[in-house]
Amino acid sequence: MISKIKILYISKVVAVIISIFFIPLTLGAQNDCGSDEIYQEMMKNDPVFRMEQELSKVRSSARSQSQELITIPVVFHVVYHDTIHTSPIDSSDNISYDQIYSQIEALNEDCNSLISAPTMWHEVAANPEFEFCLASRDPFGNPTCGITRTYTDSTIFSFKQSVKDESTGGVSGWPVSDYLNIWICDMEGLRGHATAPGGVDSLDGVAIDYEFVGTGAEFNLPVPEFNLGTTAAHEVGHWLRLKHIWGDGGCNIDDNISDTPSAPRANYGCSDSLACSPDSLRMRQNYMDYSDGACLNLFTQDQVDLMREAFEPQGARSQLLTSLGCSAPVQNAILLTINFDGYSDETSWQLEDDLNNIIHSGGGYAENTLTVTHAMSIPDGDYTIIFFDTFGDGFCCGSGNGDYEVKYASGAEIVSGTGEFEFSLSIPFPNTLTDADYRFIGGSDTGDTLDWYNPANWNKLSYPLDCYYDDIIIEADCEVDEVLLREERNLIIKNNAKLIIKE
Ligand SMILES: [Zn+2]
Repeated sequence: MISKIKILYISKVVAVIISIFFIPLTLGAQNDCGSDEIYQEMMKNDPVFRMEQELSKVRSSARSQSQELITIPVVFHVVYHDTIHTSPIDSSDNISYDQIYSQIEALNEDCNSLISAPTMWHEVAANPEFEFCLASRDPFGNPTCGITRTYTDSTIFSFKQSVKDESTGGVSGWPVSDYLNIWICDMEGLRGHATAPGGVDSLDGVAIDYEFVGTGAEFNLPVPEFNLGTTAAHEVGHWLRLKHIWGDGGCNIDDNISDTPSAPRANYGCSDSLACSPDSLRMRQNYMDYSDGACLNLFTQDQVDLMREAFEPQGARSQLLTSLGCSAPVQNAILLTINFDGYSDETSWQLEDDLNNIIHSGGGYAENTLTVTHAMSIPDGDYTIIFFDTFGDGFCCGSGNGDYEVKYASGAEIVSGTGEFEFSLSIPFPNTLTDADYRFIGGSDTGDTLDWYNPANWNKLSYPLDCYYDDIIIEADCEVDEVLLREERNLIIKNNAKLIIKE
């Protein structure tokens, strides 16, 4: 959760811990889920998917009963058309970080809890023990707040999978072996849809209409029946192979789950009614029904077993267990600048890690190139940069005076020197800015107050304007409109620096 704090001239460690409040609303219209239609299309058109569904029936007979917390890294892809924000209710489809974070919290409550299962279903209710985390590291190791934002010309993504592809106005997902992709867009008439395991990676994931994401009176959630963030748990159920509790058919069609009573159709609202069997109530509290969000509070043991089967060693989602998506980002942005002598076409270079793996390299420069700058992201560690000259006189002296510099994107120098060497030159250097996710280290020593909003003044590719996961260390005077701190994170001021928060 985010806290906004106002601080003047602070020179000590500040920790901010905040809490959140939900204000429930009541009653409205109804929207449904498109997952079954997608499932039927994939069964019809995707033979690999069809085969996977048959195999999964066999595997499901040997479901695991293990009950350990399973962590699932999540990235939200916000695909928006309307950028207009109105206060205090934000009606834009470019929904806020806070709204997305409230969705993660709701998802964790729905998928890691037994608290609210009603007495009548205590025998069959089970805790999935899933923990969802917003990605803190992108597929390249760079810091992320677990959200991508993409403008689209499309005003509506009704039902089809177009939101998952650039060519149809959407955006591609991140690798499905490391992330659960959740697309957020305007799907008018649908709350969401999801793909069952076994289909093509590029379509894999969950999509939710932006008006059904998260929970909180401060957000634009116009349908009171579904303003508690429960759509995500429903769609995640589909993503882990669950079907609707009524089996998307009448009393003769089953959801292939033995401990859910069969039902004639979807349930709406919150009232009790009979299931197909005359002495059985329908399980309107099940997340895989269409009942109001306020009435949903359980998965059954068989549903949980089926969902968790996906995380068994050969399971469709098992690779997520070793994902580093929610680990601390590891990359630092560095810049290599080479000023050549008169023979740039003789020069090449490579950057090696401490195991002599070549991480980056360059060369083949056109004749008479004066200077090049390469931007790279590298993990913390020890490195060697090696320059080569095919003629054997380096890139200095005699035919022009060349030199090189490796520095952080912030401007702080790591190593530099002249191009004076024969055939090769090896320069080892450490890259060890490990003590904070974001570290404001300043770009000059003139004593001026530096620009917080300039990424060049941070040791990472970006500054913590939107959201971030770790401590912030301030090492130079700077000025800022506000500081957004996640729960239990520290704002650490060093070197007697002044952090000035403008009124
Ligand atoms: Zn559904």
